[in-house]
Amino acid sequence: MSTCQHCGIGNSPIRSLCTTCGSALPKPAAGMEADLSALWRIRFDLIEKAGGPTRPRFKQLSLGERFRLGFNLWALLLGPLYYLAKGMWRKAITMVVLTLSVVVLSGTLAPDGSLVFLENMLTTMISFWFFLNANVNYYRKVVLDDNGWW
Ligand SMILES: [Zn+2]
Repeated sequence: MSTCQHCGIGNSPIRSLCTTCGSALPKPAAGMEADLSALWRIRFDLIEKAGGPTRPRFKQLSLGERFRLGFNLWALLLGPLYYLAKGMWRKAITMVVLTLSVVVLSGTLAPDGSLVFLENMLTTMISFWFFLNANVNYYRKVVLDDNGWW
């Protein structure tokens, strides 16, 4: 967070102007924020427009905005490797452990493979959850300094 020296409101460190009063904000400390690409700035702006990581105003976004907020091709293709590459290693471990647990549990409970359908459904859900939350999770890490396990 960078605090506005004019009105005292906290702003995301990727902003150069205060969202409340428009005053210039102090430059963020050197770090990842300065290196954010245009694409990430758009995603982060959309997350803030939606009301932050829990996205209470998500339904007020247009379809195109919702898509841009949620979609991340690399997270879809790479899964836990993407999380690792972005420094979200705790979430990468959670994702792998959850997926392996489902596979092991299914193999233990039904060695004949009769639970394979359920196994595939659950592992797909886990992958999708991490895919759909990749942008918000990165926002949490970079802007909110929150790099938790899920
Ligand atoms: Zn201000």
